[in-house]
Amino acid sequence: MAEDAPENLSPLPKPAETNTISENPPGQEWKHRPPYRIQSLEEFGEIKWRGSCHCGQVTYQLKRERPLNAKFCHCRGCQVMHGAPFQWCAIFPKIAISFTRGSEGLSFYSSTQKSRDYTLPCKVSCSFCRTPIMDEGRNVCLLFPELIDFGGNEEEQKERRRIFEVSCHIFYSRRMVEIMDGKPKWSGLDNSSELLDDHGNKVET
Ligand SMILES: [Zn+2]
Ligand SMILES: [Zn+2]
Repeated sequence: MAEDAPENLSPLPKPAETNTISENPPGQEWKHRPPYRIQSLEEFGEIKWRGSCHCGQVTYQLKRERPLNAKFCHCRGCQVMHGAPFQWCAIFPKIAISFTRGSEGLSFYSSTQKSRDYTLPCKVSCSFCRTPIMDEGRNVCLLFPELIDFGGNEEEQKERRRIFEVSCHIFYSRRMVEIMDGKPKWSGLDNSSELLDDHGNKVET
């Protein structure tokens, strides 16, 4: 049956396949995939949240209300690159995110390669005001919820922020401040390092 054909089996003979003119210049395909593919509102779906950088040149929409997970990261990289004691991230699938102007106005930085070329994983920021926007991984984006417009009055904002409440702290061994919230604290990555208490003492399990 045709359905059983391997995915890479081209219906065209080799020369035809290689003569096909690609719509996108090589290495630029990512600009036409979520979260950078520019979509109409009908195509994207109902917007649950909107976020924007400090200068307002970068804006994005989310069509999913709840993140897959949210964490505070106390690693050295986050401290330096955010100029903050720790970083708050909310994890969303790429398809749930849409940047209004696509990749325009965005700058990329690979902390592993120390390069500004677009290679995953990378840090994404506004090219103009330099607001950190997210960490892009291979399948998900780690958005910084501070950019999201929670709207409403103080009480409503508090309620909405609760949706982005963190499940744990990671790299707590590198902390600059201690957080007395009683949440699980991992010395390194979650589920693959030691559990610590609020003061950084190893939890006997
Ligand atoms: Zn900006
Ligand atoms: Zn980090």
